[in-house]
Amino acid sequence: MFNLILFGPPGSGKGTQSDKLVEKYGLIHLSTGNLLREEIGHKTPLGIEAKKFMDKGQLVPDEVVIGMIDSSLEHHKGAKGFLFDGFPRTVAQAHALDKLLELKKTSIHSVLALEVNDEELIKRLLNRGKTSGRSDDTDEAVIRKRLAVYNNETAPVAEHYKKAKKFQAVKGQGTVDDIFCWLSEAIDKKLK
Ligand code: ADP
Repeated sequence: MFNLILFGPPGSGKGTQSDKLVEKYGLIHLSTGNLLREEIGHKTPLGIEAKKFMDKGQLVPDEVVIGMIDSSLEHHKGAKGFLFDGFPRTVAQAHALDKLLELKKTSIHSVLALEVNDEELIKRLLNRGKTSGRSDDTDEAVIRKRLAVYNNETAPVAEHYKKAKKFQAVKGQGTVDDIFCWLSEAIDKKLK
């Protein structure tokens, strides 16, 4: 198996690059943001509860997203590998993921972190908000809150994987194809 985490702040291009990477490498794409939006779309109790946090730019409680990842892993038994996008977002989620993968006799092989400066992130998110229909992308205050949450709660997750020597930063500014090339190069090295 090959398990990859695509890491980076909101608006760093994780979703765009994930779509291309899962196609190239035959991985299953697990995006907690997408899974949560599906729940919201189906108006499930989980979705209704999660939306309250998401609309404020806060994180959904760990146990909710960990539970979703656990069932997705179960659902895709026999997968060649997984690409985690938007997860883990807290150190507790990273520990939980390590345990879940260990139970499945596998682990994270690589964490690739897209680096984009704040000014560019805000520009991209506001732009995405014009067409995405995502309420969390239209309000600059909510976007700034998400970036603050990223710096406080998610950035420490990088340390967890740096300690394990699995972390690599990749430039997240350039054309979509350039960035895809840089990510692919990093993955190909790991796969060798
Ligand atoms: P973005 O990366 O642009 O913030 P996502 O689609 O990854 O977009 O996430 C949207 C929102 O969903 C987040 O602001 C957060 O409220 C919630 N969310 C997604 N993934 C997680 C997670 N792993 N833990 C907690 N909350 C999450």
